Amino acid sequence: MFVLLRQLHSDRKTAGIARPARRLSLAVRHVDAGSCNACEHELGATANLFYDLSRHGITITASPRHADVLLITGAITSRMVIPLLSAYQAMPEPRLVAALGDCAMGLGVLGDHRDLAGPLEHLLPVDVRIPGCPPTPEQILDALASSGLAGRATTLR
Ligand code: SF4
Repeated sequence: MFVLLRQLHSDRKTAGIARPARRLSLAVRHVDAGSCNACEHELGATANLFYDLSRHGITITASPRHADVLLITGAITSRMVIPLLSAYQAMPEPRLVAALGDCAMGLGVLGDHRDLAGPLEHLLPVDVRIPGCPPTPEQILDALASSGLAGRATTLR
């Protein structure tokens, strides 16, 4: 196993792929609160072999009880308010919130429809905003890995 890891680090060094600056971990719980799925598509791409989210110590968790960050996509439909708040309340302290995409920030194509409860910051304290429609995998990765979220989650614990 360690031989393989050493070989991998050596190959990455040869290929000029930089090591992540931080060695902290960040567990992310994603909730789709009414998106068109394009934001999810780009988020999913961050986990592929090219972007390799886990190399930065970031994992997507299925349970809010294991999460440091609640990552929300979509325009926050009225019906998603209770599930969204339930997920937030289930998270251990300290908990951070990230808005992914223009819709979550109230800037999306759906505008100010009566069935929308967004923007997200009207419901929860937002720590990181990732603009775009949709944001690219690079932008998402950069925001999660470089925004200091992992450091803040660790410091607050
Ligand atoms: S920000 Fe754009 S891509 Fe993301 S959910 Fe809204 S409309 Fe879709």
